[in-house]
Amino acid sequence: MSVLTCKEYTGHDVDTRVYDSRGGADIALLILHHTGSSNEHGDAEWLSTYHTNPVSCHQLVLRDGDLVQIVPNEGRAWHAGQSAWGEWEDLNTTSVGIEICNKGDGTEFYTMQHKQIVAATVAYNCARYKVRDENVVSHAQVRAEWIRRHGRAPAKNDPLHWDWGDMWARVAAIRASWPWHDILMWACMLP
Ligand SMILES: [Zn+2]
Repeated sequence: MSVLTCKEYTGHDVDTRVYDSRGGADIALLILHHTGSSNEHGDAEWLSTYHTNPVSCHQLVLRDGDLVQIVPNEGRAWHAGQSAWGEWEDLNTTSVGIEICNKGDGTEFYTMQHKQIVAATVAYNCARYKVRDENVVSHAQVRAEWIRRHGRAPAKNDPLHWDWGDMWARVAAIRASWPWHDILMWACMLP
């Protein structure tokens, strides 16, 4: 498992036009997605370069367990759209967006490396930003909550078939065994 910068993986830095500022808001949520694609390099390009209606995320988890940091966590990435959870709306402002590389059509299993690195980055981001477990959620959940409050919008189903029980068991194991110096070491690897 490695943590890679956008430039290390794609050969260029993330375009600064695909994210903006949190405006001083704290990070309070982690939102998980699937990419809906079998092309990891294409995903990284799509999420880091400017095009019409750009989308972006903070962390892209590859099938081999490498994690690519696209937008710096301090920035406001564009992955949640119409979204609500708890006391928050417009969750791009208050969340870290984690994209899991998966076709998202129900035909592809998540890899063992996916399961472990997503659990690791959830444990790490929760510790770093004091995110409560109930605020680690799916794109599907935060869209459904927005629809419940405001009415019609396209539903989301991602990350499809993600095993939350398995993830939380892994997070618990990491929390029980992961010394703080390792968390800090990981923090130093991230941009
Ligand atoms: Zn999504």
